[in-house]
Amino acid sequence: MSAYHPLTEQEAIELAQSLSNFFPEGAKLQSREIGDGNLNLVFHISDPATGKSLIMKQALPYAKVVGESWPLTLDRARIESEALIIEGKLAPGLVPQVYHYDADLALTIMEDLSDHVIMRRGLIECGRYPKFANDISEFLANTLFFTSDLGMNQQQKKLQVQNFINPELCKITEDLIFDDPYTVSENNNFEDAIADEAEALRADTALHLEVALLRQKFLTNAQALLHGDLHTGSIFITPESTKVIDPEFAYYGPMGFDIGAVLANLLLNYAGQEYWSTEDRAREEYRAYLLDTIQAIWTQFDQKFRALWDEHGVDRMANETEDFQNFYMQSLLQDSIGYAGCKMVRRIVGLAHVADIDKIPDPEKREKAQRLALAIGKALLKWNRKAASIDEVLEIAKKGV
Ligand code: ADP
Ligand code: MG
Ligand code: MG
Ligand code: MG
Repeated sequence: MSAYHPLTEQEAIELAQSLSNFFPEGAKLQSREIGDGNLNLVFHISDPATGKSLIMKQALPYAKVVGESWPLTLDRARIESEALIIEGKLAPGLVPQVYHYDADLALTIMEDLSDHVIMRRGLIECGRYPKFANDISEFLANTLFFTSDLGMNQQQKKLQVQNFINPELCKITEDLIFDDPYTVSENNNFEDAIADEAEALRADTALHLEVALLRQKFLTNAQALLHGDLHTGSIFITPESTKVIDPEFAYYGPMGFDIGAVLANLLLNYAGQEYWSTEDRAREEYRAYLLDTIQAIWTQFDQKFRALWDEHGVDRMANETEDFQNFYMQSLLQDSIGYAGCKMVRRIVGLAHVADIDKIPDPEKREKAQRLALAIGKALLKWNRKAASIDEVLEIAKKGV
């Protein structure tokens, strides 16, 4: 089975059986392919007799998008498994445990998190997750601080950057997030009802400057090891637990890209509540909950990151230069707001959308949600370099309604 080929369910079972000590010998295993099939296969393998189960995620050598195929490196399976292992060490309990990585098959075997729900679905159902702000701020502070020049040996870091050169997946981000939405591109995907908005995006030169600055930073600033795709579809959640999955886009980039991804996806759901909350009062309350969560994420991230810096900072100049920490944290806030804006815009007019908005069946409410998401995203982009407090994000979101 060792040469690369996409596994069948039967082969996935055989591979799981060959893992020593996981399933009892002779167990009658069941396998189900549960991935969405665009980039990767995901097998859920279980032993009904003991209730034990695991997940096997295998990279496919191509991406299937809008009916076409483009080749995509299998190396992303290595990047994903290595990133999961690093994240698991730095943020214990906040990612699935990796049991095994098979380089030839481009496959990672990991903890089954089927008792959690994908957060995007949870938010569409108006779920509340009281531990989320604490958990995700801890994930962000620990993974970003300890992989940056503030928190790790700086020569080691340069060597580490080499392990996470991820040009093909970075190019997807560079094109789909930082380019296509602002030009005429076959990759774009928007409804006729908002064609005026798409046209306005193409003509807005002030916006283009902000996007170009953020794109430049994404291309050049190897600040920390990012997850790289930290939307609410990459987060498994329950009220008591948070697990971050799917870091195949991991690379050394600007920290605000990960923080902004979380904020943007909460705000996309905020826009989608146009439909998902059926009563005005419930909508107002749920939107207030989402904004409270955004505020708590940033506030706790800021506290935790500064505390790590004060206790574990390795850079003498950074540690002892008065006001550098304040400047650094303000820059992170500004980057996070800018990247959040980019991510909101691309989810409305770019190639890949989000269920929070796309799955709204009522065309009028869907259009209203799309326009709201674009208004918030554009306002975040226009404001990002002036931002001094997370409260300004909340004001922008409230103004859009
Ligand atoms: P992709 O990179 O193709 O998006 P993901 O890692 O996001 O793959 O996984 C796709 C889906 O497979 C998830 O939305 C989830 O339903 C399921 N899945 C992935 N990892 C796990 C896991 N550890 N436990 C349970 N289900 C998982
Ligand atoms: Mg997917
Ligand atoms: Mg995914
Ligand atoms: Mg993925």
